[in-house]
Amino acid sequence: MIIILKPDIGPESAEVSRLMNYFRQFPDIKPRISDVQGTIRVVTEVYLIGPTHDLPLETLERMPGVEKVIRVSSKYRLIGRHGGQLDQIGFEYNGVSFNQDCLDIFIGLCAVDTPEHVEIVFKKLQELNITTARMGAYKPRTNPYDFQGHGKSCLPWVFELAGKYGIKIVAIEVLRAVHIEEINDALEQAGHPTGVMLQTGTRNAQNFELLKAVGTQHEFPVLYKRGLGLSLEESLNACEYIASEGNRKIVVCLRGIKTRMGEPHRNLVDFTHVPVVKRLTRLPVCIDPTHSVGSKDRAPDGLLDIFHATAQGVIAGANMILVECHPRPEVALCDGPQALTMQEIDHFIADVEIVRRAYEERRALAEHDC
Ligand code: PEP
Ligand code: MN
Repeated sequence: MIIILKPDIGPESAEVSRLMNYFRQFPDIKPRISDVQGTIRVVTEVYLIGPTHDLPLETLERMPGVEKVIRVSSKYRLIGRHGGQLDQIGFEYNGVSFNQDCLDIFIGLCAVDTPEHVEIVFKKLQELNITTARMGAYKPRTNPYDFQGHGKSCLPWVFELAGKYGIKIVAIEVLRAVHIEEINDALEQAGHPTGVMLQTGTRNAQNFELLKAVGTQHEFPVLYKRGLGLSLEESLNACEYIASEGNRKIVVCLRGIKTRMGEPHRNLVDFTHVPVVKRLTRLPVCIDPTHSVGSKDRAPDGLLDIFHATAQGVIAGANMILVECHPRPEVALCDGPQALTMQEIDHFIADVEIVRRAYEERRALAEHDC
């Protein structure tokens, strides 16, 4: 059960103390208070865990400060929309907003290699007024003999360069809980020139200990990537682990799913699920066209398959794009064949802008018609 409080009722209010006193008569029910960043306001919610079926809903609804009381299904307890009864969850981190209405673009290297390449990318993003990037430091490779990433050794100069070019957030995949500490320490030592979004990769989509670790810390937001061989329900349940540890700064990322169909793409593009995830959960939704498509193939109309896939996600209302680039894809240590060049980034952004405008028009039309 979730109790949503009226706009000006905070966790320290007399109304919340009164509610907590009331719950003392139900020792098996554990109340948990949470501040949720909605689209226009911070909402205080009280979660009741335990046997809530005997609680009198009407009595609770009449208590001072209570806006509404919702009996939630057990599925996606914290991240779920519960049949449209709850508003979306958005958040702000380091001056950047994430919610189901915005569109943030994270561009960068699959794997950090040299300071020169990182600097070229950040410089390019600054020219484009983009303040969000991706940089892989810890790489989960299929082959143990492939480059595994520079790890913590590259973090000091990546963060310093990010600060130099006004990058506010760098998305970095973590494979183990200790990587979160390494990132925290490196940011601390560098004087916090930038922020970090922790990425959990598709191969770790059901690594519950890792998910709990990114959920237990409340500093960094988390980009949860859908499991490549998991159903949507399994992935969203796994994502709920992060929220259940108290961190609700989560973005769900669709990155294509594995099939046995083989060609033409590395994974089957699943961006038609963007509106589905927005309906089922209150979280912003990201698309990763790079790992979905996995090639630089071009359609006869002149557009790369990566552009087409991106357009499909953006026109369906995606809130974030994660895409890989490299100044010299031919020397990249990971995923070079699918990396956009610096020139292609200009075209990519212009294309995304066209599609985003079309999405906004579609949305206005739908609102008008409803
Ligand atoms: C990545 O984004 O660097 C990555 C490895 O993606 P995924 O986990 O989706 O394969
Ligand atoms: Mn990659």
